[in-house]
Amino acid sequence: MRGSGQVTWLDNTAGNRPNFVTHLECSRTGKRHAAGRLHNLSEDGYPLLVRYDLERMAGAFTRETLAGRSADLWRYREMLPVTDAANIVSLGEITTPLITLGAIAGRLGTGRIDVKDEGRLPTGSFKARGITVAISMAKELGVKRVAMPTNGNAGAALSAYASRAGMESHVFCPEDTPEINIAETGLQGGRVYRVNGFINDCGKLVGDGKAAAGWFDFSTLKEPYRIEGKKTMGLELCEQLDWRVPDAIFYPTGGGTGLIGMWKAFDELERLGWLGPERPRMVAVQAEGCAPIVRAFETGLERAEPWQNASTVAAGIRVPAAIGDFLILEAVRESGGFAVAVTDEAIESARAKVASQEGLLLCPEGAATYAAWLKSLDEGRIDRRDHVVLFNCATGLKYPMPGCGETLDRHGRIDYQAMARPD
Ligand SMILES: *Cc1c(COP(=O)(O)O)cnc(C)c1O
Repeated sequence: MRGSGQVTWLDNTAGNRPNFVTHLECSRTGKRHAAGRLHNLSEDGYPLLVRYDLERMAGAFTRETLAGRSADLWRYREMLPVTDAANIVSLGEITTPLITLGAIAGRLGTGRIDVKDEGRLPTGSFKARGITVAISMAKELGVKRVAMPTNGNAGAALSAYASRAGMESHVFCPEDTPEINIAETGLQGGRVYRVNGFINDCGKLVGDGKAAAGWFDFSTLKEPYRIEGKKTMGLELCEQLDWRVPDAIFYPTGGGTGLIGMWKAFDELERLGWLGPERPRMVAVQAEGCAPIVRAFETGLERAEPWQNASTVAAGIRVPAAIGDFLILEAVRESGGFAVAVTDEAIESARAKVASQEGLLLCPEGAATYAAWLKSLDEGRIDRRDHVVLFNCATGLKYPMPGCGETLDRHGRIDYQAMARPD
């Protein structure tokens, strides 16, 4: 039973509920792995994907089922792997808004452009979506200690949800990870280590230490349930658009869980009969200082070569090598989309522009998607009339901002008239 101290807005409070998971499937070989057991990568070393009995689900779960449910990601509970609602570890994963950039679209004469603002989620980033589901599953499967490498936001979400679940968490980040991520991770009860290397080097430490320290490895895509949480971005977006998809989605791509998850969501929705065969073009956005997926896309490769000396202000997408690279490239290609890189200068200028013209402060990774949209318009890769959705995956408040503000001497003469902006 859920007692006091549990979230009360969650409406699925009553014990066991139908679970439609049939098995986990190797994303490369298709080999089946049993549900209800702890897994990292598949036997052959690839990410595992959760599979459901969608036919049976279609009989029990309809679009109408959603009508009375709370506006959070647990409204799609039938499409998620948690068996016992008592295992749900939640901090209030609300439905995030679509913010239309009306002034900019009007000025540029383009079709509708929306930002899906994931910065409203607990811990200030969409990492909460993946981690709430993954920690709930870890609780269900009896995990006590978790560890992960991170560029910041995932570690912050992990420490928050692990503490809430009464688990111990260990978070390894590159030494130049934004200070705020390190502080929030530590304050929320996780042990956080600065490592002189990139996220892949941090991942190696987790791999080396997990047997000795008794950690369950929570690395991106080495844990099969985070992607199910990220999948809800696709479910939510379709529901918000009245079960339609936009023409294109611009997604800031690091490990790619969100892009792979949304692609999976569209497929499952179609098999439930909630969506037709139409798909948005999936555009993977990276920074020029770390663009392994863009390079692989352009050279026609199925997997990406690791990027050397990765560097960008957009820390969340500074991922030199992604274990799910082939899944990202597959989704991008199947969707008729593409991969595009933008400079740090374009990112900073996009951030300033959207903030000052629309009042929406993006994170650098979110700003990268705006810069990529502009670049793609310029290059004719995106139709001007297209309805485009950009993903802003964290609150802009987490990141350094340029100095602003002027000084006033309240004892001196102040020229109030000069304060008005020229028309
Ligand atoms: C983690 C992160 C990303 C990249 O997400 P993936 O799904 O792992 O590719 C993008 N933006 C922000 C702000 C992030 O924290």
